[in-house]
Amino acid sequence: MSEKPKLAMYWASSCGGCEISVLGIGDKILTVDEIFDIVFFPCIADFKYEDVRNYPDGYIDVCLFNGAIRSSENEEMAHLMRQKSKVLVAYGSCAYEGCIPALSNLTSKEATFDAIYLNNPTTENPDGIVPQTVTKVPEGELEIPLFYNTVKSLDQVVSVDYYLPGCPPEPPQIWAVLQVVVAGLLEGAELPPPGSVVGAKNVAVCEECNLTKSEKQITEFYRPYEIVPEAGVCLLEQGLMCVGPATRAGCGALCPQVGMGCRGCYGPLEGVEDQGARMLTAIGSIIDVGKSGDDEAEVEEQLDAIVDTIADPAGTFYRFSMAHSILHRARVNGNGHKKGEAP
Ligand code: SF4
Repeated sequence: MSEKPKLAMYWASSCGGCEISVLGIGDKILTVDEIFDIVFFPCIADFKYEDVRNYPDGYIDVCLFNGAIRSSENEEMAHLMRQKSKVLVAYGSCAYEGCIPALSNLTSKEATFDAIYLNNPTTENPDGIVPQTVTKVPEGELEIPLFYNTVKSLDQVVSVDYYLPGCPPEPPQIWAVLQVVVAGLLEGAELPPPGSVVGAKNVAVCEECNLTKSEKQITEFYRPYEIVPEAGVCLLEQGLMCVGPATRAGCGALCPQVGMGCRGCYGPLEGVEDQGARMLTAIGSIIDVGKSGDDEAEVEEQLDAIVDTIADPAGTFYRFSMAHSILHRARVNGNGHKKGEAP
């Protein structure tokens, strides 16, 4: 049996971008192949769940687990990969904090099915059929995983050793993390403390953004198509939403450099429990509202008028972190999930 450390990569509820991001490390992928035995990676080769079930516990040295927990299958695989892996990495924003899939926590499973299968201009479904966990067919019973009402992050179902943020993580970070893990496994070098966010910095994106900030106050927010930003100037100070002040750096401020506000995919800084709330604080400090002599009602009106120019506040401030936020999910029909159903 080979003595090379064993690597696995699994996708739960995700778009596949994380798998592709691994290829972003370029020809270093050949080094990964030299260093590791790849023992499970369903995206690139025909591995079966049964293969993993047959491995001894802890057989896999490093598992890069991407994707949120959206279904009973995702949850079952999270437990299986935890059991079979020495080091479990929540790879990418979906596994780390729910990301885009967890935006459906703002609504219910029924509303999601309605939008996908029933009231959708590109779907023809005259019989109103929606997925059922068990369906009887002439040959017997077909079973598919249960679609949960609430999306969770990986660490909300199993313990996680490290978090690698990003949607998807950037190649230099991926390579740096693999090197750290390899040094730990092969050379006995000290690994980062369990629970660490790896491959990112603990300063805000603004710190690595080279656009000029001048503490300008704003009176209106714009969508990216509404104005042409002035080159070299902070986007937020021009009224373009940028979540850089509330987001962990490490990507090199890639989005602001090309005129697109930071979306927040590297998640909150250490010690910040709620990225959306942190961003609201940042917004509060740059809004220009109230002059001396204005009464409270007037100020409130002005404030509302400015806040109303923010398109989709929940989707903007919690685009990546809804599952991990203090909100976690919206209350829908009382408690947000049906009685007796997996939350
Ligand atoms: Fe921060 Fe965004 Fe302004 Fe850059 S553009 S300095 S990331 S707020």
